[in-house]
Amino acid sequence: MKQMQIIVLVKQVPDTTEVRLDPKTGNLIREGVKSIVNPDDRNAVEAAVSLKEKYGAKITVLSMGPPQAIDAVSEALGMGADKGILLSDRAFAGADTWATSGTLGKAIKKLGDFDLIIAGRQAIDGDTAQIGPQVAEYLDVTQATYVCGIDEVRPDAIVVKRRLEDGIERLELRLPALLTVVGELNRPRYPFVGRLLDACREKAPIEVWNAADLGFKTADVGLEGSLTHVVRTFSPKSKRQSEMLEGSARDAAASLIGKILNKKLLRETV
Ligand SMILES: Cc1cc2nc3c(=O)[nH]c(=O)nc-3n(C[C@H](O)[C@H](O)[C@H](O)COP(=O)(O)OP(=O)(O)OC[C@H]3O[C@@H](n4cnc5c(N)ncnc54)[C@H](O)[C@@H]3O)c2cc1C
Repeated sequence: MKQMQIIVLVKQVPDTTEVRLDPKTGNLIREGVKSIVNPDDRNAVEAAVSLKEKYGAKITVLSMGPPQAIDAVSEALGMGADKGILLSDRAFAGADTWATSGTLGKAIKKLGDFDLIIAGRQAIDGDTAQIGPQVAEYLDVTQATYVCGIDEVRPDAIVVKRRLEDGIERLELRLPALLTVVGELNRPRYPFVGRLLDACREKAPIEVWNAADLGFKTADVGLEGSLTHVVRTFSPKSKRQSEMLEGSARDAAASLIGKILNKKLLRETV
């Protein structure tokens, strides 16, 4: 079997538990917010490195983002990826999912032949879960989303398990294929310190490509190349009023039933 070529899509995201919106502008307050590798993407890297250990493979990590997203690429190299590409250009800013997938897709075409692309199921900031499927469509390759198990890889096919709401689906996909993976697939390893240090050195195998490197005009990418634009971002105002019922469980249950009947949410039938 020839050496498998695996591409992993990795996005750097703000640690969303800390993200706040500026109430005046509606923009994310990024100052002082830590950036992390999107959690599902760490599972994607772990899956690729496990396949490399089992079958042999070359892993290329691909990310689109601002210059500091290089840290996410370095972390993936620290976990065991071989090479990194960061797509970074002011022209890419403001990309919606359409423009993002088109840019990632074109970079993958520039990389050449591949057997497998692994992405996270969803990014914790954009939260759309659209990028994986859209990249697969762009490249016209088979795809499986919500992958929670990889059973077997053959030269022409991969057998995976998909997490469904009420069960598991087992699929055989023709290669090349794209998978989006969920957290239960594996437990990501920590980056090895030595590899991580190497990945942060000037000679690290990481390339930065801009729009011109991909043959794009400014109008094709970023905000200009997007089909959708964010009109406004705001935190929903909670209209819910809660009331704590005190006393024993029996008293609280009796009080709750009384309130439900008073509001005529249910009718008493006995
Ligand atoms: C209508 C709309 C308008 C938007 N407008 C803006 C805007 O004006 N400005 C702005 O900053 N953002 C904007 N965004 C957000 C931005 O487009 C998304 O963050 C980005 O396209 C990725 O989508 P996602 O975060 O939902 O990723 P998902 O689809 O949830 O991510 C799934 C997986 O795809 C891969 N992936 C996703 N993004 C990348 C990436 N950049 N590099 C490598 N791999 C990746 C990862 O493996 C990830 O786990 C907009 C989004 C929408 C829906």
